Amino acid sequence: MRIARSVRLLDPYVPGEQPSSARIVKLNTNENPYPPSPACAKALKEFDPGRLRRYPNPASASLRSAIAKRFGTTRDRVFVGNGSDEILALAAKAFVENGEKIGSLDPSYSLYKTLAAIRGVEWTGPGAGGAKPAPGTSLFLWTNPNAPTGVLAKKEDIAAFAKKFRGVVIVDEAYADFARWNTMDLAVAEDNDNIIVMRTFSKSYSLAGLRVGFCVGPKDLIGALDKVKDSYNVDALAQTLAEAAFKDRAWHRKTVAKVVKTRKAFAKALGKRGWDVLPSDANFVFAKPPSPQRADSTFEELRRRGIFVRYFPGKLTGDRLRITIGTDGEMSSLLDALDSIAAKR
Ligand code: PMP
Repeated sequence: MRIARSVRLLDPYVPGEQPSSARIVKLNTNENPYPPSPACAKALKEFDPGRLRRYPNPASASLRSAIAKRFGTTRDRVFVGNGSDEILALAAKAFVENGEKIGSLDPSYSLYKTLAAIRGVEWTGPGAGGAKPAPGTSLFLWTNPNAPTGVLAKKEDIAAFAKKFRGVVIVDEAYADFARWNTMDLAVAEDNDNIIVMRTFSKSYSLAGLRVGFCVGPKDLIGALDKVKDSYNVDALAQTLAEAAFKDRAWHRKTVAKVVKTRKAFAKALGKRGWDVLPSDANFVFAKPPSPQRADSTFEELRRRGIFVRYFPGKLTGDRLRITIGTDGEMSSLLDALDSIAAKR
């Protein structure tokens, strides 16, 4: 067989659909409904294509410096990746030996299980009594706020967990900009030796198409990621545009505030219709329709009407829908569709 056994047996990660029609209401992949910072558009316009003759800066040095400065740390404690998905894959290479395990919350971001399978190691859930890693776990991915639930864990709980854990904890903060608090100060602390906090430009910065993520952590762990990355893992245009977006704090703050405001109103509106909505600190809600309505058939009926949300079958997730927060207009279209579906019963 020419194909590695781990790949032959692999259950690949399935991303949300990316339909090409512009008429679709797309609330299925937690993208931002607002455009990226105008500073980003300006940097794009001014970008000299002649620069593409040369390889990009291998370390994304300028972007790393900007990130380090923002969080009050040094550049050697910052890593920039081709999306945070790349950072996860590099972490599976850098921090896990053959025979060790990768742990996470459950349910959580379903890519983690696939990453473990690609790496040829076992994935394990949090164990009995909450977040307690199974023996042999050397990398624990703690999504906060969690996905697809949107629920935010306490910083003290993550800190206490990391203190007891001998492996590396990556706090996946893909959605933390929408949350009431985050754990960046744990990553930046001088005495931290096993916590990495990871963020992305895909959600709060409206740059999912650009593919840039970053993380902050102890020097030796960041150094290990640097050792295993591709030489030029982030392209020149992505480095430039991400830095422009990162520096426009006012736009970022404004966009995040709009999404959070819409999330609160939408959660309330769903609640009024009898849905059970988990408290969300992210740019989506995870909600259960009132019986006898079912999540799976509601998903299908919405899809038929051109409204895409996300449905994850399975024991822990199959009774709910994960709905990305779009514009106020998109959320009203969704509510109208839900009302019409409910009236037809
Ligand atoms: N972590 C979580 C929890 C996510 O939901 C996502 C987006 N699907 C990512 C990481 C990856 O984001 P990106 O690669 O776009 O930075």
